[in-house]
Amino acid sequence: MGTCFTNATLVQLDPPMVQQGNLHVVDGKIVAVGDITPEQGDEMIDCGGAVLMPGLVNGHTHLYSALAAGMPAPPKTPTNFFEILKYVWWRLDLAHDVESIRTSGVVGALAALRCGTTTLIDHHASPNAIEGSLSDLEGGIAQAGCRGVLCYEATDRNHKNEALRGLDENERFVVLCKKRNNGRFAGMVGAHASFTLNEKSLAACVSFAKELQVGIHIHVAEDGCDEAMTQAGYGQTLFDRFKEHGLLDHPDTIFAHGTHLSDADIQAINERDTITMAHNTNSNMNNAVGYAPVARFDRPPMLGTDGIGADMWREARTAQFKSHDGDIPLPFGRPLAMIGESARYASKALGVKLGVLEPGAEADLVLTKYTPATPLSADNLAGHLIYAMGPEFVSDVMIGGDWKLRGGEVVSCDEAEVRGKSVEVSRALHERMGEIPCE
Ligand SMILES: [Zn+2]
Repeated sequence: MGTCFTNATLVQLDPPMVQQGNLHVVDGKIVAVGDITPEQGDEMIDCGGAVLMPGLVNGHTHLYSALAAGMPAPPKTPTNFFEILKYVWWRLDLAHDVESIRTSGVVGALAALRCGTTTLIDHHASPNAIEGSLSDLEGGIAQAGCRGVLCYEATDRNHKNEALRGLDENERFVVLCKKRNNGRFAGMVGAHASFTLNEKSLAACVSFAKELQVGIHIHVAEDGCDEAMTQAGYGQTLFDRFKEHGLLDHPDTIFAHGTHLSDADIQAINERDTITMAHNTNSNMNNAVGYAPVARFDRPPMLGTDGIGADMWREARTAQFKSHDGDIPLPFGRPLAMIGESARYASKALGVKLGVLEPGAEADLVLTKYTPATPLSADNLAGHLIYAMGPEFVSDVMIGGDWKLRGGEVVSCDEAEVRGKSVEVSRALHERMGEIPCE
């Protein structure tokens, strides 16, 4: 039995496509677009002219911060990005345990679902609960019903052998996902950032990724401290260090942020097809780290939320608006291609087709209440996405052909129970965090 969507405004963001018609889902995949032949027993859904589109993909996030809302202020007020990490996020990640990781996963993925985000590319950290943490996170995400491309961020910032333990966890999860090969979850090699990885650990990140044949997901030049501390600690520029370790030429590598790249760094990125940038405008504004030169990247970067919710509509809008403050504004509508890039990356990692409405693609679909009030075509789709559409129109979400959100209600799990229990889990997490000194 499948699902037939009729009388829909079919919308694909990248490449932009707008078409009135029908769409047929069978066994979790799109089998026909336009003219369809319903089968006996199919669920029939008259969309009433509303927009039906592929689920959105968040290109860089941290679900471990899903329970951060309302956490206590740090005992010391951070005055720069490094202090924001030390006083806030590195105390939160140290406070995580198995239960809070899993709860972060489900709460964060449910928030994503409500925004029409169906796949999350996540960068996880829980230094006091490393082993098994990616499966704990996966368990939470799967409870909501979303897909995930997960990694543990290897780092040397807390414990002896911490980076190696993080890499072992990546290896365990990559091998598990490859064995299952079900298109739901995939693993990568995660690395925090150059400035918290010693030479041995950075080399190990690359050798693990080579051996496992997966990409590396790392923060790059999110703030000037990454370059300055790399030069001070290792006597090399950030990109020279990456080049020497083989990181620039390792396929499917994600560089998140890039707000402090030199002209030569940008050129090095543009000369290669191995590096996918991930841009996170709202987070960069929140941390006051500046603006990544998005318009100067030849290939569109992925778009991500960096743990500030999972609202890709808001991220697209801010990416467009914020660029107008800079010297080189983004061509209007570029965020559509950036969302498309997130979907392409996740598709390759998971071995499925996401982000497109075509036969053979996964039935990760968002049915909205958005019936265009002004003419809508592929040519002006960006105007609708950036100025008029938003998560407030998302009513139903299907992932792999199964409903996860129906008429605005979560059907994949008991949302009220999850959120109720999460208050207690968060309270304990915030208390543990409060006990961690601010050094
Ligand atoms: Zn990040």
